Amino acid sequence: MAYDYDLFVIGAGSGGVRASRLAAMSGAKVAVAEEDRSGGTCVIRGCIPKKYMVYASEFGRSLKHMEGYGWKIENASYDHNLFMDKMHREIDRLSGIYARNVKNAGAELIDDRAEFVDAHTLTLKKSGRTVTAGKILIATGGWPVMPKEVEGIEHAITSAEMFHLEQLPKHILIVGGGYIAVEFAGIMSGLGSTVCLVYRGNTVLRGFDDDVRTHVHDELKRKDVKVITNASPVRIEKAGDEFTTHFSNKESVTADKVLFAVGREPHTNGLGLEKAGVKLNDKGAVIVDEHSRTNIPHIFAVGDVTDRINLTPVAIREGQAFAQSEFMNLPTAFDHANVPHAVFAQPPVGVVGLSEAEA
Ligand code: NDP
Repeated sequence: MAYDYDLFVIGAGSGGVRASRLAAMSGAKVAVAEEDRSGGTCVIRGCIPKKYMVYASEFGRSLKHMEGYGWKIENASYDHNLFMDKMHREIDRLSGIYARNVKNAGAELIDDRAEFVDAHTLTLKKSGRTVTAGKILIATGGWPVMPKEVEGIEHAITSAEMFHLEQLPKHILIVGGGYIAVEFAGIMSGLGSTVCLVYRGNTVLRGFDDDVRTHVHDELKRKDVKVITNASPVRIEKAGDEFTTHFSNKESVTADKVLFAVGREPHTNGLGLEKAGVKLNDKGAVIVDEHSRTNIPHIFAVGDVTDRINLTPVAIREGQAFAQSEFMNLPTAFDHANVPHAVFAQPPVGVVGLSEAEA
């Protein structure tokens, strides 16, 4: 049977773009559907803007140290809107590069949402077009989790909205003790907000070496972040422009912004995977083998939607291994052992391999 495409990719993020470019360059007829801008979480609402915010926040601290080294800058100030404007221009530029790279490789980039009709057929929601493909790659990424059991959770924001704050909050509460919570605690305090981080465990960054965890925790406090541990969020109440969040240990924190950074979940909702017969695990992640193949032999998935190691370079390598195996006659399985992780805490932390406790 002849299909419209050899490969149809859902999602133009890190994994989807790498796979589609390589497959197209090998001569396959490839299309990529993206409902948002090209670039995915990393470029649009993750690593890249986060890193710019880390840089922005570090200047404030450098300025404080400068005088000790003989430098003087009169009237230094931070203009949040100016920074956001410049950051978003850069994100637009990078997103444009992602889109151009897809097209330059010979793949078709479709500005639309794709959903499964059956195991070889997808419908494009905006245009109403139906397309068929010999192979399909699911690369739809992940999305922040918001715990529904917390009363008033609708008053909280996720990391996605942190990149669109119109004003710098005077006081921000950050719930969580993982990558995103720790990174934004450093960023927001460096930019000038008063920051309180509340974590349900003993100390931040569970899973990292204990001495790393203690060091990051101490550095947060040294940078004026108030850290409350062993407390879980129960209820958020709005009063005027402020929000009071109540915790299980009976403490409460009032702030003008409340960020929940309590994990991310695979973005599979509404994709119609059941119509294609693709199996998900109990967290909603697409189940794949070491070649990123689902239980349906011609359907594959890479990146955060598979919830293996949710990092950009991993999605890229999974996408590359898929394209090499399926379109370049180079069977490759990405090795998920010993992948380095970096947390852009201040100072940043990098780890690879076993933790000391595991060893
Ligand atoms: P993480 O899984 O890193 O951390 C989630 C945090 O939220 C943990 O401290 C967890 O506690 C806590 N938590 C979970 N559920 C609740 C709840 N119901 N109430 C209160 N606290 C809760 O998730 P993030 O959202 O920070 O980041 C998501 C993923 O994105 C990361 O795991 C990583 O894969 C990726 N990422 C990578 C970055 C990088 O490479 N630098 C930067 C940002 C994100 P506990 O520890 O007790 O489970």
